[in-house]
Amino acid sequence: MKILIVEDDPVLADGLTRSLRHAEYAVDCLNNGAEADHVLAAQSYDLVILDLGLPGLDGFEVLRRLRRRGAAAPVLVLTARDGLPDRVKGLDLGADDYMIKPFDLPELEARVRALIRRGQTGGGSALAHGALVLDTAGRRATLAGEPLDLSARELGVLEVLMMRSGRVVNKEQLAEQLYGWDEEVGPNAIEVYVHRLRRKLEPAGVSIRTIRGLGYLLEKAPSA
Ligand code: CA
Repeated sequence: MKILIVEDDPVLADGLTRSLRHAEYAVDCLNNGAEADHVLAAQSYDLVILDLGLPGLDGFEVLRRLRRRGAAAPVLVLTARDGLPDRVKGLDLGADDYMIKPFDLPELEARVRALIRRGQTGGGSALAHGALVLDTAGRRATLAGEPLDLSARELGVLEVLMMRSGRVVNKEQLAEQLYGWDEEVGPNAIEVYVHRLRRKLEPAGVSIRTIRGLGYLLEKAPSA
């Protein structure tokens, strides 16, 4: 799950980034509205956390342009202005939720989980693939009801594969979903995560096929 934070207060931006990375999301962070507009035109995110008062382009305009391009990513607006007109304007422009500064990080994290859940699964939080079930909000997976012991990155790989089940996912797509810009991705890292994940899933008959030169495919479970 990948989140873009657009916030020009460095202390708040840093706190949000740390807290969401700690909650095992891949996080990119920008401090300028014009840059955010540029990046959002080229990349997709599972959630955007957007401040309103920003240099370059204000948050309202970033949101307006995002929605005009037809992007459906949930947007959580952060605002120091607690006036009703701003909130109404934000929601009218297509924001999904808003938080008034200052706020508590645990509450923000709870709203992030809810928005991502809504965005990914239309309300339910579980992705299922045969006997394999992934709870995207609770960040855990079970196989035939038994909890699977997965690292955060393995869980991330599984999540991307399950969301695109039956379609080939390439390494670049996986890396993009798993890492922020400033995180080093070793050349073999994705292969290693897929290999480990495969070993944990194969005993249950769930297989991840390597399509040489193209990527990976989570194959339909035989009994599903
Ligand atoms: Ca600001």
